[in-house]
Amino acid sequence: MNVLKKLKYALMTNLIGKPYLRIERKKSEKKIAKLFNPDSPLNPPLKITAYTKEFVSSHYFKGRYIEGVKPVAWVTSGAPIEILKALGFFLIYPENHAALCGARKVQMDLIKTAEKEGLSNNVCSYVRTDIGSLLSGRTPAGKLPKPDLLLACSNICQTVLHWYRMLEKHLNIPLVIIDTPFVYNEIEPHQVEYVKKQLLHSLLPVAEKIAKKSLKEKELKKVIKFSKDATELWLEILNLCKEKPSPLTVFDQFVFMAPIVEMRGDRETVDYYNEMYKEVKSKVNTRKGALKRERRRLLWDNLPIWFKMRELAVKMAERGISIPISTYTYAWGELAPLMDLKKDEFEVIAKVYLSPILNRGTGHKLNTMVKMVKEFKLDGVILHSDRSCKPYSMGQMDQRNRLIEEFKIPAMLLEADQNDENAYSEEQIAIRIESFFEMLGVSYG
Ligand code: SF4
Repeated sequence: MNVLKKLKYALMTNLIGKPYLRIERKKSEKKIAKLFNPDSPLNPPLKITAYTKEFVSSHYFKGRYIEGVKPVAWVTSGAPIEILKALGFFLIYPENHAALCGARKVQMDLIKTAEKEGLSNNVCSYVRTDIGSLLSGRTPAGKLPKPDLLLACSNICQTVLHWYRMLEKHLNIPLVIIDTPFVYNEIEPHQVEYVKKQLLHSLLPVAEKIAKKSLKEKELKKVIKFSKDATELWLEILNLCKEKPSPLTVFDQFVFMAPIVEMRGDRETVDYYNEMYKEVKSKVNTRKGALKRERRRLLWDNLPIWFKMRELAVKMAERGISIPISTYTYAWGELAPLMDLKKDEFEVIAKVYLSPILNRGTGHKLNTMVKMVKEFKLDGVILHSDRSCKPYSMGQMDQRNRLIEEFKIPAMLLEADQNDENAYSEEQIAIRIESFFEMLGVSYG
């Protein structure tokens, strides 16, 4: 380890980073207070909202000075990170970074850069955002650390394989791919064995070599425990949204889920969700909803539209439409029961990372949605047909038809994209939403 770099890291993150981010948090608190004025149809968000920004920013801030201090890996959102964490890796999730760019509305410039360099607009907008950022060096995170290792897992889509191969070539560093077979019904023992072998024989030796140390079972168990605790808390928080009025909407959850994706496996993340749980619970106890008036409750399917979050949240709230849950935010909580600490760690990791919603059949998603509609007492479903995310959007037309015809649940398709504003038609979306509201019997007033 480079001593000078370590000193600089400690100095910058503790003496400069912490006070700087605290000032930024104060600014955020003021900004939030302005947004949620007495005329807003939304109640003020959780107190922890401003801290969330500080918490996530502190991760990226550390990343600016981490090179030479810790090994760095860039990983896909569903990658088996517990092994890397236990070896001391610092992790960057390019998908989360792309989402951050979308939420800060700086993604279109980056997308343009990537397209100018030859990436087709048919490629997922997360890829275009991140490649644009890599080529231009522009990022709202200040600077992303260069990775020593790339880890891609096929449990979310095949796009990541092409994306990470592109990164491998460009950065000239090792890439490990973990292939997860598709789960049609139940997870089969041979599938667990197949993934476990890859973890043990492909990922582990490369990661140990880069980290210059061997994996310790105790460390791995500790990281899995932190992942499990945070995931369980996240699930409990989401389950509190079954209450009427719902204390949170998906637009809050999309922001609050960042640490469960990019900081799971850390003790601080468990503390963060513990605090959040207490605050959400107290909102439930005092029957304080996210909306001032909750008239209908809907389910959101698929990724958010990052660059339209605030507008959509207000538009829905103005009509008393609450969206207390989504398949996307809930998917992270659903993994909690699989993290069985008494079992072989590699088997547990293999099972967990075989299970994401995108690695399962479309029938599984439909059943999940029907179950959620019942449990969260919902009046309908919005299926975001996301042009970029083909695996998530696959089968949505059939799912919508079956929801309406078989389960008598009102449902609508909303065609857009998580990051690409060119695939978002303001007019078309407004018409779709209005006619759905009408169908739900929700008019102004
Ligand atoms: S296609 Fe979907 S799952 Fe794959 S990287 Fe893009 S948004 Fe993520």
